[in-house]
Amino acid sequence: MTEGRKGLPGIGGQLKDQLIRQVLERRMRHAAETPAAPAQVRGEYPEAWWRFARHPGYQQLKIMREGGAKLGIADPYFRAHDGTAGSTTSIAGRELINFSSYNYLGLSGHPTVNEAAKEAIDRYGTSVSASRLVSGERPLHGELEHAIAQAYGVEDCIVYVSGHATNVSTIGYLFGPRDLIVHDTLIHNSVVQGIQLSGAQRRSFPHNDHAALDVILARERPQFERVLVVLEGIYSMDGDFPDLQAFIEIKNRHRAFLMVDEAHSFGVLGAKGLGIREHFGIEGTAVDIWMGTLSKSLAGCGGFVAGESALVENLKCASPGFVYSVGMAPPLAASSLAALRCMLAEPVRVGTLQARGRLFLSLARQAGIDTGTSSGNAVVPAIIGSSIKSARLSQALYGRGVNVQPILHPAVPEKGARLRFFLSCEHSELQIESTVRILADELRKL
Ligand code: PMP
Repeated sequence: MTEGRKGLPGIGGQLKDQLIRQVLERRMRHAAETPAAPAQVRGEYPEAWWRFARHPGYQQLKIMREGGAKLGIADPYFRAHDGTAGSTTSIAGRELINFSSYNYLGLSGHPTVNEAAKEAIDRYGTSVSASRLVSGERPLHGELEHAIAQAYGVEDCIVYVSGHATNVSTIGYLFGPRDLIVHDTLIHNSVVQGIQLSGAQRRSFPHNDHAALDVILARERPQFERVLVVLEGIYSMDGDFPDLQAFIEIKNRHRAFLMVDEAHSFGVLGAKGLGIREHFGIEGTAVDIWMGTLSKSLAGCGGFVAGESALVENLKCASPGFVYSVGMAPPLAASSLAALRCMLAEPVRVGTLQARGRLFLSLARQAGIDTGTSSGNAVVPAIIGSSIKSARLSQALYGRGVNVQPILHPAVPEKGARLRFFLSCEHSELQIESTVRILADELRKL
């Protein structure tokens, strides 16, 4: 073992020193280039203020890329897939077992879904060419919204053209500076961005800790007008889920709204794939805002909010991401509608996805892999605890025919750096067994 491994795993002492020197030199150069106020008064602005090449984010990106290249780690991002990415995929002509796509129910690329998209193009074209409010409405939009509202047992639904924008625009519009929004510490970036846009006060509670939420609300609820609590149905990095009943009891007691982001749980939890509410046997009306994405189980692109009519009508007439944005493209609305119908008609897909997840989780645990708190539903992490090791491991697996992405700091804390496996109902038991074997093997070699 080299000396460098004690501090920065996987890097030799000399190389580590070199990398640290480079980072420090750049920081010093940047500081030297940042003039004090008098120079600014004279109009001598530092380059970082008027050149994108000097943007701090870009500088950081370059350091990471250069560091990766020096360590011989190929960039795992922006790899182009040759065709549909399901349980397998082809990249640069090479077939791999694929764990990097959220095609949970195998419906992206399914013939029925493809056919629905093609028919929608033939009938409506590829774009609705306007916001739905003015003249972008097509019957497909209403049909999709109605089907989602029915799936939740609630009055109405609105679909947006992006899942991320759904959270930003819904939260950003509904809440304001006199309000409080409390969220699980692992909540998705889109929720945080929505809160920032709203101007509401933001607090977080430790992951899945409803007792901690109760304490925050007992202390802070009286100082605010509206209060929103935000959870995920399955957490996207860890694959675990909240005790929804406990959260509902707390939000009712404190007169707060509850929003559940079902990006990774709709199509995944429950016997029919109806999500966390089906899993717990909860009425749709027990949660105020059901949010989900169309890009995972529903094989499309976009997001939805389902709930009472007063909520949906309000969002449809005033939330900026809906009002000032084009309506969903016809082939995308048609594919998600067809995918939802397939899911309901073939619950075996959901059952198989759950069984494959359980298999992956139990084999990984048997092999001594740290899968954290994963419940084995759609998302199973292999926590490595070092960004460099995770990137190396991902590369080694890629070399052995398994496509899985590393999740590195700052997306997760350095100690939580990991590989994240997305399961599909189309994975065979054999594919899962051989993947876990390869993973354990390569992990030993690290
Ligand atoms: N919410 C969660 C929990 C997510 O993981 C994601 C992205 N995967 C989004 C929202 C945004 O959805 P989309 O990628 O469909 O825009």
